[in-house]
Amino acid sequence: MNHNNKLLFIKNLTKIFSAGSFLFKSNIVAVNNVSLELNAQRAEIFTLAGESGSGKTTLARIILGLVRPTSGTILYKGRDITQIKSAKDWKWFTREVQPISQNPFDTFSPLNKVETYLYDTAINYNIVTNKSEVYNILDEKLKAVGLSWDEVRGKYPNEFSGGQLQRLSIARAIITNPSLIVADEPVSMIDASLRMSIVNLFKNLKEQFNVSVIYITHDLATAYYISDRIAIMLRGSIVESGPVEKVLNAPLHPYTKLLKQSIPEPTIDVQWEEEIQLSVTEIKEFTASGCKFAARCPYVMETCKTKEPEETFVDERAVRCYLYK
Ligand code: SF4
Repeated sequence: MNHNNKLLFIKNLTKIFSAGSFLFKSNIVAVNNVSLELNAQRAEIFTLAGESGSGKTTLARIILGLVRPTSGTILYKGRDITQIKSAKDWKWFTREVQPISQNPFDTFSPLNKVETYLYDTAINYNIVTNKSEVYNILDEKLKAVGLSWDEVRGKYPNEFSGGQLQRLSIARAIITNPSLIVADEPVSMIDASLRMSIVNLFKNLKEQFNVSVIYITHDLATAYYISDRIAIMLRGSIVESGPVEKVLNAPLHPYTKLLKQSIPEPTIDVQWEEEIQLSVTEIKEFTASGCKFAARCPYVMETCKTKEPEETFVDERAVRCYLYK
């Protein structure tokens, strides 16, 4: 099959971590048989949503080439990223796929001026051939995130607010002209009053630079506002995915319904400030042989406890639940 028309192609991806000593070894399935695709022709914002321990961050790290999957396929622009071996190919990949971390203070050392990171990114990735051009490029990227070269020049990270630093880390990421940004909880450490302005940036970048974004969050409110599609993760599996309006306005999977109940009605006129509060994580959900939601599901049946449901396609969505078989 030709996957060159896919920006990202993931099929049956699984990551198993081993924990404990030789005698008491146990396996945690952090990512379980996940499949998803991003189209190369049309940029989009794809959200991976779920509570802590759902596997979304591990999946993000696999997509960034930082964690090797145990099994399954992951292709970026048709290339198997687990087979990237040379420095030249890794440079190509890291130019194409840029991360945004949760804590903007991780991106910038307090000892260095912020401009050092921006300048070095432009030079190291050969974005400019002539060093005199570099400041024009940096100014253009800074303006795209609501800042300018004059505001940044000569300053250290502690001279910026958390929100400004996250804008700066987004500016750094777009210097390489990436096709994909993987943003892991990019606003969770930002003051609640500024979150929407930062997530709006991703929408703008998608339109202005045709860059796709994988937005990882536990916050369905911001997800609803910026996403084109969403995948809901539970204990390593995608239990429901599809267009964000369908999934969040009329969820099918009982787990998506639970998530939705924990936030106000999603509308773009409301800016939620609360994080989702869920029940205590149950370790047995990791090891259950059937549906991972069986211990909490009000509709649980005997079948649910024995075999994990396969994906069913209902109303433009993929859902893993025996209620839709
Ligand atoms: Fe509930 Fe069964 Fe559906 Fe799982 S498969 S969500 S336990 S009804």
